[in-house]
Amino acid sequence: MKIFLATGNKHKIKEIEKIFKMDNVEILSINDGIEIPEVEEDGTTFEENSKKKAFEIAKFTNMITIADDSGLCVDALNGAPGVYSARYAGEHGNDLDNNKKLVKELQGIENRKARFVAVITLAKPTGETYSFRGEVEGDIIDNPQGTEGFGYDPHFFMKEYGKTLAEIPEIKNKISHRARALEKLKENLDEILK
Ligand code: IMP
Repeated sequence: MKIFLATGNKHKIKEIEKIFKMDNVEILSINDGIEIPEVEEDGTTFEENSKKKAFEIAKFTNMITIADDSGLCVDALNGAPGVYSARYAGEHGNDLDNNKKLVKELQGIENRKARFVAVITLAKPTGETYSFRGEVEGDIIDNPQGTEGFGYDPHFFMKEYGKTLAEIPEIKNKISHRARALEKLKENLDEILK
């Protein structure tokens, strides 16, 4: 069975292809030359944005489609950057500037507790949607560590491993917010597609 992955983020495509590997599922994406329109992320929750992206692209491609809306929520910043994670410093997807802003906002603050959240939605071209949420907890550090991953990974330190997510890509794909949400989708896939 073919499932279309509705994202323009090549890092997400790479991770999701690895995590979601199943014998009977072929994942298609923009990497296969399928062009998709930009979907405006104007929701106030990860759930809203994730559903909207999956629903609109499923209608457009006429394929079963999955979308990922995700971001970083920092306790001391009242959950910011949250749904604005990709454009925290203004320009969409400028990881370097987003990280600089994050470190600046946390200057002098002791509580560094944060979580990554991902909501994965599967949408059918007929309009039904099924959403699953995953989270992972860590601490924000000032100095980046590691070169793998993307986004805020070099600043997301996990005490359990003594490393940031940018240093442990294999482990990240097992324990990340994205992995946890996709695991739930996998568990429910047969029921959803019945
Ligand atoms: P979206 O395209 O609106 O879902 O944007 C997600 C944004 O959240 C990304 O641009 C990153 O800044 C951040 N983000 C989401 N997942 C991750 C991750 O796994 N590692 C690091 N940053 C992430």
